[in-house]
Amino acid sequence: MSPSQKPLVFIISAPSGSGKSTLTNELLKLVPNLEFSISYTTRPLRGSEQNGKHYHFISIEEFNRMIAAGEFLEYANVHGNCYGTAREFLRQAGRKGNDLLLDIDVQGAAQIKRNLTDSISIFVLPPDRKILEWRLRNRSEDSEDVIQRRLLTATREIEEYDKYDYILINDKLEESVERLRAIVLSERQRRLDGPRSEEDKRYFELAESCRLANAREKVQPILASFSVPAPSARS
Ligand code: ADP
Ligand code: 5GP
Repeated sequence: MSPSQKPLVFIISAPSGSGKSTLTNELLKLVPNLEFSISYTTRPLRGSEQNGKHYHFISIEEFNRMIAAGEFLEYANVHGNCYGTAREFLRQAGRKGNDLLLDIDVQGAAQIKRNLTDSISIFVLPPDRKILEWRLRNRSEDSEDVIQRRLLTATREIEEYDKYDYILINDKLEESVERLRAIVLSERQRRLDGPRSEEDKRYFELAESCRLANAREKVQPILASFSVPAPSARS
């Protein structure tokens, strides 16, 4: 992307334990000029996290000051803590000629979609509830209480999947990374008018297979494993 172009904004959301951090870390290694937006949060720093790398850890007073000053592109309360994306990050990415990747929850994603209508949203789903539970346990980060809470929240979050442009079912890691990469590269390519190489066409095909309309059928058994009714039964 040239520095004068508007950055593409990719939003990625998922229930905790689906593999979103693993996927975004791999994606950032593979795709140049893609920058991870470091959010501001009032939650305490966890074990191996570093201030300014994973998040900017700030006080609730500072967070409220940033809200009042209009410094957030979006913000939300997630699991009792405040999280927000700074407008400045988007400006900086634009100046550097980078696209931006936001790892934010479903409330934040809805706000961004309203403000930046051309942003691209991706929802990561686990293959089913049992596998999500296994991944949460195997990660060995949370107590049993927290795991049960995360599973309950997952059910609510999964209901929102059909508000996203792309659905990524994170089954085999390598394939998921390849699909995620294809989504980013094909969206970049879409912006350029010009002949497409065979490789570009392959990316398009792979990305298209993750489009909401094309993924609905594959999502049904996953919804059922969380006892989430299909959208038609919900409205
Ligand atoms: P999230 O960021 O969505 O909370 P993580 O990236 O921390 O999830 O992944 C949760 C756990 O699942 C981690 O232990 C991670 O190594 C593992 N994991 C992620 N993706 C896969 C996958 N495709 N297959 C098997 N394990 C995975
Ligand atoms: P964690 O505290 O486990 O890192 O993140 C908890 C949740 O907050 C995740 O769903 C993550 O996507 C979300 N989150 C992280 N940063 C932001 C942000 O800036 N805005 C919003 N709305 N959600 C965020």
